Amino acid sequence: MRRMSVGFFGGARKIGASCHAFAFEQRGERHIVMVDIGMDPTVAFTPQTWLECFPDMEGLGAFLDNSTTCTVVITHAHFDHVGGVPYFMRWVRGRCPALSVTFFMTEETRSLAGVTWDETEQTMQKGEAWREAEPIYSECDRFMTMSRTRVVKPGVYYEVCPGVRLFPLPAGHILGAIAVGFEAFNEHIVHTGDISFGEQPFIEGAAYMSLPHTRFVVSEATNLGETLPRRSDAAADLGNECRETLNRGGTLLLPAFQIHRAQALTAMLVAEGIPPAAILVDGNAQRVHRIYRKMLPPNNILTGVPLARDVFRGKDARETLFLEMKEGKTFPRIVVASGGMLHGIAQKWAKALLPNKRNAIVLNGWAYAGSPADVLHRAVLRGDASVQLNGDEVPLEAGVRRIRLSSHASGPELERLWTGLNPDAIMLVHGDESKIEDYLKRYGPHAHDAGFVVPRRGEVYEL
Ligand SMILES: [Zn+2]
Repeated sequence: MRRMSVGFFGGARKIGASCHAFAFEQRGERHIVMVDIGMDPTVAFTPQTWLECFPDMEGLGAFLDNSTTCTVVITHAHFDHVGGVPYFMRWVRGRCPALSVTFFMTEETRSLAGVTWDETEQTMQKGEAWREAEPIYSECDRFMTMSRTRVVKPGVYYEVCPGVRLFPLPAGHILGAIAVGFEAFNEHIVHTGDISFGEQPFIEGAAYMSLPHTRFVVSEATNLGETLPRRSDAAADLGNECRETLNRGGTLLLPAFQIHRAQALTAMLVAEGIPPAAILVDGNAQRVHRIYRKMLPPNNILTGVPLARDVFRGKDARETLFLEMKEGKTFPRIVVASGGMLHGIAQKWAKALLPNKRNAIVLNGWAYAGSPADVLHRAVLRGDASVQLNGDEVPLEAGVRRIRLSSHASGPELERLWTGLNPDAIMLVHGDESKIEDYLKRYGPHAHDAGFVVPRRGEVYEL
């Protein structure tokens, strides 16, 4: 008797703390394959609230009970997919000491995950809120994770337990990102991870697959039901904005997620003719620039032309610039700073630049409601004279605008992917609940017949 089930312990009806687990049972043995253990960026990470940043650990614990092996596939190194891994390592040793745990990730993800984990560790070591508190995991837990990690490559089959093989697939999205295909008990299952098909010059995009039948697909739904502006239009728009700011002697800030967005923007600016010497990169994005530089393929995937990796140099901009600004000098530069939602170093830059008309800020990424980027954007739309950023009142003189860039598949691209897979069911995850509901309204009562399932956090489905 063979049985399969799937549990959704995070990243359900929202973006954050992604964690989905599959159980495969036969002959009295139960084996688990988990996809991602992320943290939720919309919850404050403090000694009082940290557990809320994680997936439903109680539900996950019950799901893991009586299992023999647990293979954890990490799709990519973003915080909401990999952030919870070292804590999981500590937790699982206490909760299920007999369970044999192995992590699967690409070499690129292994390198980039270190940057994500370092940041959480810095918060626990240096953050004011954590001064009196015990860190939730230590260097030792990271070491244990690494010692149980198997580096995997897209396009290769991996047997994880009797009757179940995994095949990682390139997912586009960011460097090292994979989707996961399963061959399980003679059925196909697909988990998209975060996926993109768009043309990115230095990352291989995902491919549309064609399978005769898929038992079910767990699909991200970030841009469900939405078309996206063409990337080339957004790039040209950004290039113009940068040139205008430089011409009037101002500084243009691009707050950027440190992993991938900062590198994609840098490459985009250079391609638009902005001189590399005018681009300064600040914060942890510099470290990621170095990893990209080391690990990128030698040639442009689309054109075969050798990649100009020197674009990803990364320089320490801050010292010089803050000094010169104090002296009242202007600084015609483009600054790509870590903190896509205007946290961290990007916020320091924003506070320094906002009071001067010559400067500009271009918001370019996803920001949750109430995040500093969202607060700033709303203030600008209302035409306010100033904005409150973390308790500081900052005059709103610089030009602030938003462009739409996404490293996720558009709505039509997702639909094309599903069509090729021919699934019995499409389980929608990693998306805004209201967006998913709006989309399903189109199908009305037939949403279920069309195969759509929208799991809730903690729900387990027997298949
Ligand atoms: Zn991602």
